[in-house]
Amino acid sequence: MNIPQLVERKFLFASDQPITAPLYEIVIAQNGVFKRARRREMQAVVELSAFTVKIPELAAGEARVELTEKIPASVLEEILAHARSETDAANFTENLYAVCRDTETGNYFWKEVSRSRSFGSTIARDDDSAYQTAVLEIHTHPPGCREFSNQDDCDERGKFRLFGILVDIHSDNPAIRLRVGIYDSFWEIPAEFITDAPPENLTDLVKQERERLAEICNDLGDDAPEYILAEEYRAATVNLSYIENL
Ligand SMILES: [Zn+2]
Repeated sequence: MNIPQLVERKFLFASDQPITAPLYEIVIAQNGVFKRARRREMQAVVELSAFTVKIPELAAGEARVELTEKIPASVLEEILAHARSETDAANFTENLYAVCRDTETGNYFWKEVSRSRSFGSTIARDDDSAYQTAVLEIHTHPPGCREFSNQDDCDERGKFRLFGILVDIHSDNPAIRLRVGIYDSFWEIPAEFITDAPPENLTDLVKQERERLAEICNDLGDDAPEYILAEEYRAATVNLSYIENL
């Protein structure tokens, strides 16, 4: 019996070298080590480590997320509207949604897939085919909880898909944070990587943070690395009130 090798390990000899592993592959490139995967709806590459000394005999790798068809921004707007209507600010409970691409029509659709909900957690209906086949799994967070939690990292292991959180959903400035996960390796991405337009009325936290870091690097020139660490520390203290890990 020919058993396919689910995980492949290879060198990157050309920047357009196809992703072939059924599950995922580890690739050594000129500039670092990358984890790559593909499924019907998307291909993704995440950087695991960057080399200080480059290997000129190999091609350069680059982290990326490419969807066969981008998700309409209206899908995220509809989920936000539904999430707002299903809980109120005074008695908040989290909610979980699956975004899928119909195999026949190629159209995206979303579905609420919460089995049980509380203030700081939600449990999925894991027997629901929408949850099982989702290309994007997105849940709401209590006000102020603007990062993925340790519990999210555990719940979102062992999958290749996009993940998202919606936070401050009842405020004037609701926000979104997105990431791709390739079997336990996560990379946060701006919404424009996966949506056909910026979602209206949603602050893109990853995009905002990338712009802030770029500004800091620009202002500081050669001193940038040290100050970026300070900025990351500051960002972390914002989340001290985080309750989802309790
Ligand atoms: Zn969460």
